[in-house]
Amino acid sequence: MADIRNVIVIGSGPAGLTAALYTARANLQPLVIEGLEAGGQLMLTTEVENFPGFRDGILGPKLMEEMRAQAARFGADLVHDNVTRVDLCTQPLLVRTPDAEYRAKSVIIATGASAKLLGLPGERTMMGRGVSTCATCDGYFFRGHDIAVIGGGDSAMEEAVFLTRFASKVTLVHRRDGLRASKIMQDKAHANPKIEWMLDSQVEEIMDDGKGAVKGIGVRHNRTQVRTDVPVTGVFVAIGHTPNTSLFRGQLELDANGYVITHDGSKTSIAGVFACGDVQDHIYRQAVTAAGSGCMAALDAERYLDHVPEHLQTV
Ligand code: NAP
Repeated sequence: MADIRNVIVIGSGPAGLTAALYTARANLQPLVIEGLEAGGQLMLTTEVENFPGFRDGILGPKLMEEMRAQAARFGADLVHDNVTRVDLCTQPLLVRTPDAEYRAKSVIIATGASAKLLGLPGERTMMGRGVSTCATCDGYFFRGHDIAVIGGGDSAMEEAVFLTRFASKVTLVHRRDGLRASKIMQDKAHANPKIEWMLDSQVEEIMDDGKGAVKGIGVRHNRTQVRTDVPVTGVFVAIGHTPNTSLFRGQLELDANGYVITHDGSKTSIAGVFACGDVQDHIYRQAVTAAGSGCMAALDAERYLDHVPEHLQTV
């Protein structure tokens, strides 16, 4: 019979790697299964200027490389593999990848969330070169620029209003005539003179300046079918997020939008299973808050393991 691990961390963004660092330093020899998109959403960004401790900023992939190396230095065992199945209703807990089955006394879920994208050519390659899914992270780089925000929900309104602090003009493009956002958020956005509206319109092209950066968007009006090219250097896609929780559906309590429900810190509906980072947080979604919640999950797991039944001790 294979060994029973103390703790398996699923995911390797700031939440997962912080959980790995803390559980490694607590001598729990965590196994981290990194996932297909190792490093998480920060791998899609360029400069990160709001992670404390780096006064000159740090590149997103470099920050993740440092976090990974720091966790490894204290004995975290990192495998570049993808979890395909879990069984959290048995003890020990079971975590499967295509080629292996792992058993653990506790599991920390840090699978994150993925920003929804429009699915346009160039959208991914220009991520960090004009295309962004995080106004808080990237707004500062667009001081004095004309930019666009895509979406009609609360996030789009909030991001558009926030971005007017930096941008000279924000064009908000939404696919319907009516906004989905709450009245109060709509009113705030409507009251802002720097926001221009293109409703009932779809972005059909993100235009490249020839050097891999954004120079504009092509927007088609649904009713008239007229296309307007809008010169912008930034495109903030704010059409929602999808939590990466399909693995846990039917086992863990999820909210209506599919996020893992946590209580008393990072505890989930199953004893010994903890969740941290964007997979359980649709509000803050910052690297630093994800890292903080990864620390909480590690401490919660450590306390849980102090009282784990004898028959589950590592063989
Ligand atoms: P959301 O409410 O799901 O809104 C997504 C918006 O993007 C919708 O307007 C939708 O259009 C549009 N959209 C989706 N897919 C699209 C596509 N492929 N192409 C073009 N447009 C697309 O997501 P959210 O704004 O991120 O908000 C998520 C949750 O967080 C909500 O419950 C929200 O209230 C909450 N939130 C609250 C606050 C706050 O209170 N301060 C701030 C942010 C978020 P349709 O309208 O046509 O479907």
